[in-house]
Amino acid sequence: MTVRRFNSFAWENVPVLSYKEGGPYKDVTRQVLFEGEDSLPAQWRYFEVAPGGHSTLERHQHIHYVMILRGRGACLVGDAITDIAEHDLVEIRPMQWHQFRAAADAPLGFLCVVATERDRPQLPNTDDLAALRQNAKVADFIRA
Ligand code: MN
Repeated sequence: MTVRRFNSFAWENVPVLSYKEGGPYKDVTRQVLFEGEDSLPAQWRYFEVAPGGHSTLERHQHIHYVMILRGRGACLVGDAITDIAEHDLVEIRPMQWHQFRAAADAPLGFLCVVATERDRPQLPNTDDLAALRQNAKVADFIRA
């Protein structure tokens, strides 16, 4: 199908899936908009974090290109915590810790492009968490 119509942050014939990338997360859904193919080996996904929810705190070698499509919240990328809202762009470089949180009173929906062939996300171990928590603002932000 050439055109899949948009309706309430879902698209025709695109199933709304559980997030299930592993690790602790809260109230996140996933939709795969385009699966990619040999000539464009990338997946284009839409994630939505419900108000008060968060994605998994993780890192990996592959990169993410993100555009916020709905609502607002904040993200940790590396050691920077930034408020984000509709149409902001977020780039996540290799091995940067990252986590998205929706505002308490708004969802956070975002488009995310990722390579089809990619390494598995790493979750923080005890030492990683201790290092992250050296920064008081990061300690306050992360959910792990
Ligand atoms: Mn990631």
